[in-house]
Formats: sequence, C-alpha cells, structure tokens
Amino acid sequence: MSAPAQTGSVSEFALIRRFFSSVGASREDVLIGVGDDCALLEVPPGLGLAVSLDTLVEGTHFFPDVDPESLGHKSLAVGLSDLAAMGATPAWATLSLTLPHPDETWLGAFARGFSALALAYGVRLVGGDMTRGPLSVSVQVHGFVRPGAAIPRSGARPDDLIWVSGTLGDAGLALRRLAAGEALEPGLRARLERPIPRVELGSALRGLATAMIDLSDGLAGDLGHILRASSVGAEVDLAALPLSPPVAAVVEADRDWGLPLTSGDDYELCFCTTAEQEPLIAALGRALNCPLAVVGQIRAAPGLVTRAPTGETNAVAARGYDHFPDET
Ligand code: ADP
Ligand code: MG
Repeated sequence: MSAPAQTGSVSEFALIRRFFSSVGASREDVLIGVGDDCALLEVPPGLGLAVSLDTLVEGTHFFPDVDPESLGHKSLAVGLSDLAAMGATPAWATLSLTLPHPDETWLGAFARGFSALALAYGVRLVGGDMTRGPLSVSVQVHGFVRPGAAIPRSGARPDDLIWVSGTLGDAGLALRRLAAGEALEPGLRARLERPIPRVELGSALRGLATAMIDLSDGLAGDLGHILRASSVGAEVDLAALPLSPPVAAVVEADRDWGLPLTSGDDYELCFCTTAEQEPLIAALGRALNCPLAVVGQIRAAPGLVTRAPTGETNAVAARGYDHFPDET
C-alpha cells in the first residue's frame, strides 16, 4: 500500500529489513519468511494450528514512556501465554507496528526485546506490517497442538481442583505503584513489563488438565470464563492464593483481596484437574521448577464463591477487566 498514512516506502522497507528480517529462531517449517507478499509455512501433519492475536495500545496497555525493549518482550509474551493456555507449542509470530515516527533507536530496542523472547521459545517472526499513527503493537502467534490434546476452557467438572501457577497480583501492584508515582518493590516492575509466559507448563499439562486459561484480566474474571464455558461454579480459598511478600502486605493493609482476585496482567496459568491427579501435578511443578498452588475446587452450583480465612463465604462477580463495560 502507498497511502499517505504509511511511513515513506523506501525507509519502510529498509526499516523492516534492518530490524525485522531475522527475528527469533530459524525454523525449517518457514519456507518463506519476511520479505514476500505472504509468509509460506508448513504445519506438521496431524497437528492443529493454534492462533491468537493481541493488540497493545499506548495509554491503555502501557505507559507512553515504557522501555521499548520491555514492550517488545511483552507484546510477544502475551500471545505466547495464550498458546500456553491452550497446551500449544509456539512456532511463528507476525507483528503489526503502528508508530508516530520511525525512531531507529526505539525500533532496535523493541526488536531486541521481541527477539530475545522469540529465541527462548523457538519462535520465528515470519511477517507483519508497519504503518504511521498513534503507537500500537499487534502480535499474532501461531503454535501447534494435536487437536484432541488442546486444553479448552470448557472441560472443568464438579470436584476438580483449581490450580494457579506463580503468584497473583504482582503486575497489578506494579501498575498501582507506577500510576501513583510510588517506588516499586524489587522485582515488581519485571512482573508487569516482562511477564514470562508459562509455555513449558502449558504443554506439560496436555492430557492432565481438564480446563485451562491464562490470567490476563484477574483470577475472578478469568476463572469466570472457565466456569461459564464449563457450566459449573467454584469455591476459591483466599488463604490459599499464592502471594508475593509485597502483595501479601498490601492485602493485609487494605483488608481487601482485590489485588490478587481482580488485577490483571499476571500471565500465570489457571487450570483444573481431578483430585486424584494432585500428587502428579505437584511433582510436575517441582520438575519444571514452577510454583503451583491449589486455590479452590469446582462446584456443580454456578457462581464464584470465596472462602475467607475466617470461614466466611462471599459470592463474587466472576468478571475481569472489560474494555467496553457499558456498551454491550
Ligand atoms: P505488502 O505491501 O505486499 O503487504 P508490506 O510492505 O506490508 O508488503 O511488507 C513487506 C514484507 O515485510 C512482508 O513480507 C511483510 O510480512 C514484512 N513486514 C512488514 N512489516 C513487518 C514487521 N513489522 N515485522 C515483520 N515483518 C514485517
Ligand atoms: Mg502488507
């Protein structure tokens, strides 16, 4: 396209060549990558192609002064987290970048962050688009999973255990601190800006988890998606929620579980298994060096109920962040 909204055509192609023509791992299933009208890719026989697209918009998903290397990392990480939640193995990514101006220092840092994570998971950037406009980044990820082995949201059954990986609420606390101009506790910024997608855990749970989702919008909302898709309810034990020391301190000071229950951007996995599988899953967590906690149990009765350390139970809205809350 040669619409005036695009970056000038010569520099556009030069920038693509310079920054995006060899990002991530080289793969034999990429027959044609960046540089032609389409990428040409080969899906292994017998496997399904898992595809997910995410857009990050300045002011909505990141601060205008965000470190571009972190943004490159995060824009791929959120997609890899979706593949993990399906039990899929990552393979390829495409990238659509909208930039106010082609700043080469910024592009170099962005590509470095994106590429380091892509390399870590064997992902190749195979194509994309670049246009001029308010800063926004869209990444589509592609992965493989045997169709019968993909882990949907819809398989949770009454009495299943509910597990989460890692700790909850760290990204939400980082966001709260940054918005208030407060100092961040050590490690908190990375939890917001450099989430590590639980790719190994996701594929290790094939054949074990009955349902799975990644936590992008908060446990209550994302578990709510599993509950609705599976036509079940759940009881969550608040004392069992895995919390980092700073989040635990805030929960105690606020006397409120909002941070671990409803803040987003953690990119941990939430999944269900039968109770018999508890020792096997615990062993898997140790083998992968991935902290796993049972936080509750699936119930036949619909709705999400929390149980406080005092034993008191409360019905909570199984809803997370919604970009269009009053318009649908
Ligand atoms: P066309 O006009 O034929 O759609 P483009 O000018 O949009 O082609 O892109 C040229 C080539 O560069 C394509 O192979 C496209 O996939 C790739 N590309 C464009 N932008 C990016 C990007 N941000 N990252 C990776 N590849 C890109
Ligand atoms: Mg194009």
